[in-house]
Amino acid sequence: MHEFSIVSSLLESCEEIAQQNKAQKILTITLDIGERSGVNVALLKSAFEEFKCGSICEDSKLLIQESKVELTCEQCHQTSIPKELNYTRCPQCGSDQVKITKGNEMLLLRLEME
Ligand SMILES: [Zn+2]
Repeated sequence: MHEFSIVSSLLESCEEIAQQNKAQKILTITLDIGERSGVNVALLKSAFEEFKCGSICEDSKLLIQESKVELTCEQCHQTSIPKELNYTRCPQCGSDQVKITKGNEMLLLRLEME
């Protein structure tokens, strides 16, 4: 499953960052998940609960923030957040030369360690 591999690479980066910072454990993990990232938040959370045992994240809390899609138009160079589920047209000028510049990825925003 997609979410399992996300969680295992997330735990790996947490271990790495903790080592670099000489931290003993990670208290909270904050993730930003774009609404078009294809990540199922509920599945991600349950995969995390399952995988964290025995890792540096055993006592961590997983906080998830969801971010909206943002479009950038190649015609008028404006950035906009579409109100409808229409990601193919610029709401400013109507051009279809738009790119999704936000909301299609998952980011590790913050780690709280001790
Ligand atoms: Zn435009």
